[in-house]
Amino acid sequence: MDIAIIGAGFSGMAAAYDLTRAGHHVTIFESDDHVGGLAAGFKDPGWEWSVEKFYHHWFASDKHMLGLIKELGLQDKVLFPRPLTVMYYNGRFYPFDSIIQALLFPGLGFGLNKLRFGLVGVFLRLTNNWKPLEKVTVDAWMRKWAGEKVYTMMWEPLVVGKFGERWYRQVNMAWMWARLKARTTRLGTFKGGFQNFAELFAARLREMGVEIRLQAPVVLIEHPAGSARVTVHGGSTEQFDRILVTLSPEAMTRLVPSLPEGYLHGLRNMKSMGAVVITLALKHQLSEQGYYWYNLPKSAGYPFLALVEHTNFVPADKFGGDHIVYMGDYLEPDHEYFQLSQEELLDRFLPALKMFNPKFERDWVRKAWLYRTAYAQPVPLVDHSQNIPAIKTPVDGVYFASMSQVYPWDRGTNFAVEIGRRAAGMILEEAKV
Ligand SMILES: Cc1cc2nc3c(=O)[nH]c(=O)nc-3n(C[C@H](O)[C@H](O)[C@H](O)COP(=O)(O)OP(=O)(O)OC[C@H]3O[C@@H](n4cnc5c(N)ncnc54)[C@H](O)[C@@H]3O)c2cc1C
Repeated sequence: MDIAIIGAGFSGMAAAYDLTRAGHHVTIFESDDHVGGLAAGFKDPGWEWSVEKFYHHWFASDKHMLGLIKELGLQDKVLFPRPLTVMYYNGRFYPFDSIIQALLFPGLGFGLNKLRFGLVGVFLRLTNNWKPLEKVTVDAWMRKWAGEKVYTMMWEPLVVGKFGERWYRQVNMAWMWARLKARTTRLGTFKGGFQNFAELFAARLREMGVEIRLQAPVVLIEHPAGSARVTVHGGSTEQFDRILVTLSPEAMTRLVPSLPEGYLHGLRNMKSMGAVVITLALKHQLSEQGYYWYNLPKSAGYPFLALVEHTNFVPADKFGGDHIVYMGDYLEPDHEYFQLSQEELLDRFLPALKMFNPKFERDWVRKAWLYRTAYAQPVPLVDHSQNIPAIKTPVDGVYFASMSQVYPWDRGTNFAVEIGRRAAGMILEEAKV
């Protein structure tokens, strides 16, 4: 078969890998000038490694991604350093990477609340029965089982940060279960950065015969009545036996307007948050304690949600001695941070860095980059499993695999690989019939 894949992120490339190995001819259309999608990175002159546009790491449990890397024979390039994550409490930060540190964290006192925190954590790690959990919100479940104090101190800041005031009370408890179930304190990356892996993967795909067309945005997909083939309209118009789209649900509605109203309605009903991230190249280390990831509650008044010092995870000498710091937030796409210029955002963000290191001065900033995306984090509401769009769409030959469909798991490159390969499997299976 001649198969078109729209999007050269990890789901598109993983699908291309399996479809090509099964003997089919695959063309990937990618609107950007590089592969990697949301996990892509960039490199400043003088840097040996690239930095992700949006902070990225893997978990030790990311079996789909780590399995694919092994199949490609690239496992020697995966690193799992031991970076430090800290929690905020009363104006100070406390390491939170082990059970001992969790026990020592003063935010919950040392009595019943700590016990409830521990018991709820153990229950969520052990149970596999997530279905009943999606019938109730995080807000209701946690208040009941973890208790008011534990919820407002430990879990509410996480859901508020990820989903904002508008959605956080409506997010279902299966999302929280999946987060605790699938994540580890050990964090991994790829030598040279995620972009290096994406480029090596793309090079392997090209060797196998996959055609990857960069700067090739697709604007319309049609399936004219009576035709066995689907048509991709980009710079030119081409016909394929099958098409797999790996974009956002919103993009899917624009690309395939001929989808039946029921399916389109389902796509339009998928909610998501955007992300705004500024990356700084600093002349000095920001966190003198060597902290990598700061969990910041919105209520503490910081102008961003996450502060991540990438070079406390991977060495600064890979970046010509620059210290790489991310300041990021998850926001509704109509938030003012999507309109403000980089300079305006820096004026808002930089003064806050003194709270992490009082010696910080603006002239520490050698260079800054701003990346924004309207589609960063799907929002799973109650009974979400019943609303997930099917991978095989009602339009013959057209398939759809996105971050919004990896539920109950939370989005991530690991699940992009999983859904890409699952979609490829369905295309192959249905071609047999
Ligand atoms: C702030 C942030 C932090 C994250 N942190 C992590 C993390 O720590 N670890 C982790 O594993 N994951 C993380 N993720 C999630 C991860 O990036 C995604 O789950 C994954 O990259 C999704 O891959 P995908 O292939 O499904 O989609 P995408 O990566 O979105 O790929 C879709 C591709 O389609 C292209 N495209 C768009 N429109 C068109 C068009 N019309 N025609 C052709 N091509 C088009 C895009 O340019 C893109 O390359 C994070 C994401 C964000 C936003």
